[in-house]
Amino acid sequence: MGSIAVLWYLQKIDNKRRDLQREADNAKIRRETKELALRLEQKERDLEQLMEKLKEVKRAIRRGERENVGKMAGLDELETRLYSGQTTNLQELTQMQRQITQLKQEGAELEEEIIASMLNQEVLEEERDALAAAIEVLDKKYREKNLLLEKEMAEFESQMGKLLLKRQGLLGEMREEWLQLYEKIGKERGGQAVAAVVGDLCQGCHISLPTNLVSRIITNERLQTCPSCGRILYYQGKEECPDI
Ligand SMILES: [Zn+2]
Repeated sequence: MGSIAVLWYLQKIDNKRRDLQREADNAKIRRETKELALRLEQKERDLEQLMEKLKEVKRAIRRGERENVGKMAGLDELETRLYSGQTTNLQELTQMQRQITQLKQEGAELEEEIIASMLNQEVLEEERDALAAAIEVLDKKYREKNLLLEKEMAEFESQMGKLLLKRQGLLGEMREEWLQLYEKIGKERGGQAVAAVVGDLCQGCHISLPTNLVSRIITNERLQTCPSCGRILYYQGKEECPDI
């Protein structure tokens, strides 16, 4: 390989690395995996909130039941006293009767509240089960997708590794100042530092190059840059450099 051909080959390797990287970054599977992960996170958060609500409802039921036990004990005591015949004072008896009525009413209201909370608990438990089932399905999908993504990433890493090895090999064949120029022009020209010349046309900017310039680069032994786009010129002619 002539010296400029080495630069051209380096350019091809770098282009391929860039394409591979872009492909990996934009891979549909990466987006899909991320989307599944986000959906899964959201559902897990929903489940956490639901479990909190459920805990609160259960606590309310226990509280209501304890309160009701207290009321019922008070009622029992009052009724025992009322029917024991110990109290004969009419006013006191009427007072006790009133207290009993009130306790019974409060008890009934409390019962209703407890029943409503229990129904709410049932609804929440159903929601929890449905959500848990949805999470399980989503989690399975996510794992499968992630496995595929990991496989693709491994393939990507392997291809990148091979390209880097080739690149490393090329650098050993290259003059340091040419490499520096290659890097510098690449930065200025969107990563494309070397332009092929076909006939007398620079493929980087499509201008016609002067004949004497073409004759200087035809052997690919001298480094010349395009007067228009500034790229290093590689005379492609008919001879292609080895494929990557
Ligand atoms: Zn040019």
